[in-house]
Amino acid sequence: MKIIPVLAFEDNYIWLIGDGRYAAVVDPGDAEPVLDYLGHHGLRLAAILITHHHGDHTGGIEALLRHAAVPVYGPRKETIPGITDPVGTGDTVRLPELGVEFAVLDVPGHTAGHVAYYGANSLFCGDTLFTCGCGKLFEGTPEQMHASLQKLAALPDDTQVYCAHEYTLENIRFAKKVEPANRQLLEREARDRQTREQGRPTLPSTISLEKATNPFLRCEHPAVIEAASHFSGGPLDEAVKVFTAVREWRNRL
Ligand code: ZN
Ligand code: FE
Repeated sequence: MKIIPVLAFEDNYIWLIGDGRYAAVVDPGDAEPVLDYLGHHGLRLAAILITHHHGDHTGGIEALLRHAAVPVYGPRKETIPGITDPVGTGDTVRLPELGVEFAVLDVPGHTAGHVAYYGANSLFCGDTLFTCGCGKLFEGTPEQMHASLQKLAALPDDTQVYCAHEYTLENIRFAKKVEPANRQLLEREARDRQTREQGRPTLPSTISLEKATNPFLRCEHPAVIEAASHFSGGPLDEAVKVFTAVREWRNRL
């Protein structure tokens, strides 16, 4: 099984999970690059997985369904045209053509019904967890997003993290304001900068790298607590308050 990034728009990744004959796609905001890839590689579409309702993640569903009538999995708590199999926490998405299955996790915060898919040591987390960052809180509360990120951080360290956007360098620039002395963060910056200069995606990441460098997963670390407290002008005594302050700080940049 191979997982390939199909680039859409400016910085969206549509993840294509393929086995040489069949492919499933995650968050096809646009059908054209997916159909091009399938055509060039002689792959048959087997399923579509959707994390949330935003157009840059769902815009290609209709055209893909005209091409092949496949199951479309997506959040039960959101209304998305084309979804055939609404899912939420406790559900399993089985893709027999690819010999893989995914556990569904509710991860509200960016949107109210956002879901993530976890299986084959891989996490497809849409706009919830980003490399060195997290999604904006359009519909959820900081409490919800913090809990959602904690849920993802609890996955095994070597889980491969496939987010829906290439935001790594921008996110690192902010993370360095929070933790200028985080050695692993500085090493990550050097590595990811080189990767981008070579025109390659900085993804996938891993849960262990995110726990070491992503300020939104580090709300219990003294350096992050201190920086967030300084930003809010008073001591913050709870991880969720630290998270709220760091998210607010990020919004202003
Ligand atoms: Zn989004
Ligand atoms: Fe998005």
